[in-house]
Amino acid sequence: MTSPRDFPIRPVLDAIEPAIASFPKASMHELADDGHTDLFQQVVACLISVRTFEEVTMPICRALFATAPDAAAMVALGEPGILEIIRRSTFSDRKAGQIMAIARRTVDEFGGAIPCDAEIVRGFNGIGVKCTNLALGISCGLPLVCVDVHVHRIANRWGYVATTTPERTTVALDEAMPDDQKVRINRLLVPFGKHVCTASRPRCSTCPVREPCAQVGVENPR
Ligand code: SF4
Repeated sequence: MTSPRDFPIRPVLDAIEPAIASFPKASMHELADDGHTDLFQQVVACLISVRTFEEVTMPICRALFATAPDAAAMVALGEPGILEIIRRSTFSDRKAGQIMAIARRTVDEFGGAIPCDAEIVRGFNGIGVKCTNLALGISCGLPLVCVDVHVHRIANRWGYVATTTPERTTVALDEAMPDDQKVRINRLLVPFGKHVCTASRPRCSTCPVREPCAQVGVENPR
C-alpha cells in the first residue's frame, strides 16, 4: 500500500476536478458559490443538511436565507417561522430549535457574527466535527478536512489512508494532507463519489485516477 507521503494527492485532485465539472456540486459549496459564504449561514445550512437529501436541503436553505439572511433576522423570524420553512428537512422540529439557539447566541454573545473559532462552532448544539470543519473551511478558509461517507470510502480505496471510521479518516487526512488541499478534497470527492467512485460498482475502467489508486476492497468494478 502507498504511504500517505507517497500518494500524489495534489495531481489526483487536479485530475478529478475536470471529471466532476458537469455534476451537481456538493450542497455547502454550491451555496457558497451562490454567495452564502457567511459562517452563520454555512453552519445553519450544514445543520439542515444532516440526514436530509441535497435536493431537499438546497431549496430550504435558499428560502430560509431569503427570509432571514443573518442571525438577527433569524431571531426575529422566530422558531415557528423557521420551522415553517425547514419543515421538509429531517428532524425539522429539533433543528428549528437548534437554529434558533445558534441565532440567539450569535446575537447575544458574538455581536451577530460567529467568530472563525472551531471550539465555538463545535459548541453549538447539533453541530458535529463534520459541519464544524466544513463551515470553517468554506467560510473562513481554515485548513480543515470534512470527511463524509464519500471522502472516507475513496481515501481508503486509494490506499491513502487505512481507517475504519470517518472520524479516524479525519485525523489521518489532517496529518497527511497539505493544508491548501484540505477544503478541496470534500468539494471534489462528494460529486466524484456519487457519480464515479460509487459505493457499489465504481467506474474504474474510465476513472481518471485509476493508475495511482490501489482499489483497496473494490469488488466488481465497472
Ligand atoms: S480506480 Fe476505481 S476505486 Fe479507484 S478512485 Fe477510480 S473509481 Fe474509485
